[in-house]
Amino acid sequence: MKFALFILLFIPLSRASIKHFPIDDYDYRPGHDVGIKTYQAFSLHRTNKIVLTFDDGPHLIQTPKILDLLKSYNVKATFFINTAPLNQEKLLLAHRILKEGHILAGHDYNHRDNNKEDEDLFRREFLLSLKDIKNIEKEAGVHQKGIYFRFPFGYYGENPHYHHLNVIKDVSHEIYGENCINVSFWDIDTKDWGPTMSSEEIAQNVLAHMEGGWAPTVISENNKWKKIRIKIKNPPQGGVILLHDTKKETFHGTKLILEMAKEKNWEIIPLNKVKEFSFKNKECDYK
Ligand SMILES: [Zn+2]
Repeated sequence: MKFALFILLFIPLSRASIKHFPIDDYDYRPGHDVGIKTYQAFSLHRTNKIVLTFDDGPHLIQTPKILDLLKSYNVKATFFINTAPLNQEKLLLAHRILKEGHILAGHDYNHRDNNKEDEDLFRREFLLSLKDIKNIEKEAGVHQKGIYFRFPFGYYGENPHYHHLNVIKDVSHEIYGENCINVSFWDIDTKDWGPTMSSEEIAQNVLAHMEGGWAPTVISENNKWKKIRIKIKNPPQGGVILLHDTKKETFHGTKLILEMAKEKNWEIIPLNKVKEFSFKNKECDYK
C-alpha cells in the first residue's frame, strides 16, 4: 500500500511526464537509442484525439489550399518545414502559417539523412534552420515558446560517432539556456508520401488506425514502391498523424480526414496541447 502511494506520488514528478523527448540528464548512445516506437504520443492513444502534422513544405500550390481548408474547419496543425529552400514566396507562406495560429516547426535545413552527416555539419545546419524559424517568427510578429523538430525521414542516432539528440540538447542550451527543443515523430503514418497513394487511401489509412481494419500502405520491393494493405488489429485510436503538404493527393485526403473527424467525433488538437509535447512551466525564450 505504501509502495503504491509512493508510485502515485512519484509518477507526476518524473521527468518523462514533464518533457517527452529528448529527456534531460541522459546521454544518448549512437546505434542504441534509435527508433520511433518509444516516442509516440501515448497520452493520445485510445482517446480519439488526433494531431495533424504536415512535413516538407511550404509548397506554393498545396500549402495555401491546405491552410484554407484548415481555416474552414477551424482546425490548427503543425507544419515541419525545411528552411534552405525558402524563397520570398515560401517565406510569406511560413508567415501565414504562424499568423493563422498554426505551429511552425523545424524539419532541418535540407531534407537529408542526418545519419550520413558528421557532427559538425549536423550541428551547423540544425542551428541554422532554427535561427531561420526564429527570424520568420520575428517577421510575422508571432512568438513561439521553444520549438518542435522532426528528423527528415525520421532518421537519427545511427551515426557511430555522435548522437543527434545530445547535439540537439547542446544547441538548445546554447539558444534557450535549457532543454526546449521537442522532437516529434508520429503515431499514424498515412503513407501519403507513397507515389501511388490516392486521397481516399490516405484517409482509409487513418480510419484503420482509429477503428481497426485494412490500411492501404506502401512497401519497397526490388527498389520499387508497391502498394499493399495491412490489417491493423490493435489501432492506437488517436495520436500524431504524419502528412505532407507537398503532395497533391494530401489536400483532398486531409479534407476526407476532417470530414471523418466531424462524423466520428474525433477531436483535433494542436501539438502543444499534447502532454508529451508541452513545455510546461519552462520559459523557453530564444536568447
Ligand atoms: Zn520530410
